[in-house]
Amino acid sequence: MNISKYEEAIQNCRFCFMCRHLSAIGNVRFTEADTPRVRAAMLYGLRTGTNSFDDEDFVDALYRQDLSACCVHHCVNHFDENGLALAARADVVEAGKAPEAVKALAAEFSASASWKAAGKGDVAWFLDGTTAGDKDAVAAAKKLFAAANVAPKTITGGCIGKALKLLGFLPEAKAAAEKFAAFLAAEGVKTLVVSNPAAYDALTRDYADFGVKLPCKVLHVSQWILQAKLKFAKKPAAPVYPLADDFLRNYDGIDAPEKLLKALKAECRPFGTNDEETYNCGEGAVVLDRLHPELVEALAKYVAARADNPEKDTLAVASVYVKRALAKAGLKAVTLEELAASCL
Ligand code: SF4
Repeated sequence: MNISKYEEAIQNCRFCFMCRHLSAIGNVRFTEADTPRVRAAMLYGLRTGTNSFDDEDFVDALYRQDLSACCVHHCVNHFDENGLALAARADVVEAGKAPEAVKALAAEFSASASWKAAGKGDVAWFLDGTTAGDKDAVAAAKKLFAAANVAPKTITGGCIGKALKLLGFLPEAKAAAEKFAAFLAAEGVKTLVVSNPAAYDALTRDYADFGVKLPCKVLHVSQWILQAKLKFAKKPAAPVYPLADDFLRNYDGIDAPEKLLKALKAECRPFGTNDEETYNCGEGAVVLDRLHPELVEALAKYVAARADNPEKDTLAVASVYVKRALAKAGLKAVTLEELAASCL
């Protein structure tokens, strides 16, 4: 079973309640089943025969996890309860027990795995479907490219494997990854700039796990902006409350967003009661808004309740997913691209 690779997490997390406050879903459902300890205990029970994927409640708990990776990031031993949860989903799928809604979503993402390129050159920008849905974020990225005198080839299209991996469909995820890598090679891409942190994580970590080689260097847009050494003439008009990104901080450990905020001379204010938990409304789960929109709404309200002034504060986020989710609770967020473009 895939979960066998996470023995340390199963054995240790099932007795530990240290990171329960970082379980975003547990914080809005007030349920122990939505904490790493009880998920690990349930998966331990799977191996001892006291639990089974025939139990729909158990499978549902696995598919409503926010997957922020806050727990593993802040765990003193870094036991990978997040990797365990992903492995458990893969085991559910391999056992043929995936819920119908999950299967339908996976079929949709699998079928979407094709792309188009517009423009010339060996520098490309991957404009994923989520980012493409936000006109302001797209316009900001274009303004930044123009300021750097870079006219990237723009790549648009469907799933590059991330959503499929998160849903537990590993062969399909690997097939999408191989197809996208071949597409980039055929397009002669040498540098790929990526706006969506989930896509960045897929390209930099998942592809390596799958053994899929990319023909290009991959940069998150925050890394690219820093590297482009753009001249920012203005400071952000108002103070911002930066939210640490699930993928960029917890999965990938990159500090480009913080460096960019410094380069912009942004007045950054601390958000919420601590800087450990996620305020990203299920960003790490990528498709939580499709599987459980009611939970994303509850997560957004949880964030709004922690804002100093929910009607006026501006939150700085790394992804359009988060911006869109926070808007459900009336919160105003700007992406890093938008903030940087406003300083040109
Ligand atoms: S990830 Fe670490 S802190 Fe969280 S339950 Fe597991 S052992 Fe405890």
